[in-house]
Amino acid sequence: MSTTPAFTFDNSYARLPARFHARLDPTPVAAPRLIRVNHALARELGLDPAALESEAGVAVLAGNAVPDGAAPLAAAYAGHQFGHFTPQLGDGRAILLGEVVGPDGRRRDIQLKGSGPTPFSRRGDGRAALGPVLREYLVSEAMHALGIPTTRALAAVTTGEDVFRETALPGAIVTRVASSHIRVGTFQYFAARGDIEGIRILADHAIARHYPEAATDENPYRAFLDGVVARQAALVAQWLLVGFIHGVMNTDNMSVAGETIDYGPCAFMDAYDPGAVFSSIDHGARYAYGNQPRIAQWNLTRLAETLLPLLAPEEEPALGVAKQALTGFGPAFQAAYLGGLARKIGLSSVQEGDADLAQDFLTLMAEAGADFTLAFRALGDDGALRALFADPAPLDAWLARWRARLDADPQSPEARRAAMHRANPAFIPRNHQMEAVIVAAVEREDLRPFEELLAVLASPYEDQPGAERFQLPPRAEERVLATFC
Ligand code: AMP
Ligand code: MG
Ligand code: MG
Repeated sequence: MSTTPAFTFDNSYARLPARFHARLDPTPVAAPRLIRVNHALARELGLDPAALESEAGVAVLAGNAVPDGAAPLAAAYAGHQFGHFTPQLGDGRAILLGEVVGPDGRRRDIQLKGSGPTPFSRRGDGRAALGPVLREYLVSEAMHALGIPTTRALAAVTTGEDVFRETALPGAIVTRVASSHIRVGTFQYFAARGDIEGIRILADHAIARHYPEAATDENPYRAFLDGVVARQAALVAQWLLVGFIHGVMNTDNMSVAGETIDYGPCAFMDAYDPGAVFSSIDHGARYAYGNQPRIAQWNLTRLAETLLPLLAPEEEPALGVAKQALTGFGPAFQAAYLGGLARKIGLSSVQEGDADLAQDFLTLMAEAGADFTLAFRALGDDGALRALFADPAPLDAWLARWRARLDADPQSPEARRAAMHRANPAFIPRNHQMEAVIVAAVEREDLRPFEELLAVLASPYEDQPGAERFQLPPRAEERVLATFC
């Protein structure tokens, strides 16, 4: 029997008052088997990949053994789900093992997702199915490679047990790594109980972990709110710039650290459509692609409400401070989004008229049903781009305007081409490809397609000879219309 891998735990969240969490161990599973360990991430965390892959390591990743120094817990939180408030949600199928401080000094949560029931499970079984675990692994690692703040996947294992959704499915557990799992909904949990002391303790903890510069501000809580607003504005802009749709932007799925979290029925769109919805549970299209900035601001308003007692001693001034912080969202989002669009069309700075120029390109894509990722990647190669548009005449008119604008931009053609490649990925985790990976894993126990797609998605901005098929949008019969959690 190999020895349990050594984690350098320092569990600051477990040291918070008892009402912040329920302490319990993961529930052991029947027959754990390793799917994969993320070696690069393991090393970043100061963990030995080989130790994680050993029998003792797999036991930890499956929740069958608790490593030394861990303080396993399920965190308490609340949340607005599709606009409706639930005062108690909490980790219903996840256990935080603890926080690891890596060789780089960064503190990160190590969480098992799918690790069994907790006091917050309500009617759920506490488990996860293999398909969604592979999806979370692929999409979170793809987001990271795209340069977008996100939780990471350290490992995945199968449990040897079935989980029952509509049918029996193989069970799995993903080990999720995050800067923290503090959500807007965590603040709402204490606010819903009138627990101002709890809000203050949580805010101080979040500031120390994520916004240390706010601690010395004359109003630390205002500075904290400003910081979360800024990071969320930048994050949602980055989502839009790669065609990402989160799918469940409930307040319990929004991290105050500014990372993308909770990959459920998310999707990358193929054809550009600002109204795109994939989530099977988003009947009202609340979380459609183009609604995401508005929803982020709505969620941030819910965060601001919980902070009112901390922002100023009296209600009126506190409201003023909160409103002012929230008004920062629009300009921060616009700057990040327009700056990003400008880079995508090869401009080194944003001038008057550039927003319209970029928007007109998007409108042409929407009208033609052109593939968002391919169209941006093909920009500059007129043959490849025209092939994406059934009627290239409006595109040609736009290309003439675009080239006239490029003449006024100081970059050399070579520098522009390189910069555009860094702004326009060739590879994204397309729904139909993830679907094929999941079918192979679930129906044939074949993980090679998973490994292959994962490897391609690790270098999304590079042309990868031999991997061209992963650039292709779905054929009609391959199209995925809905994604599930
Ligand atoms: P989500 O919208 O997927 O982030 O989940 C919302 C809430 O439901 C959270 O409190 C989750 O922990 C809980 N939950 C989701 N799936 C399960 C499950 N299979 N068992 C127990 N709790 C779950
Ligand atoms: Mg407790
Ligand atoms: Mg969630």
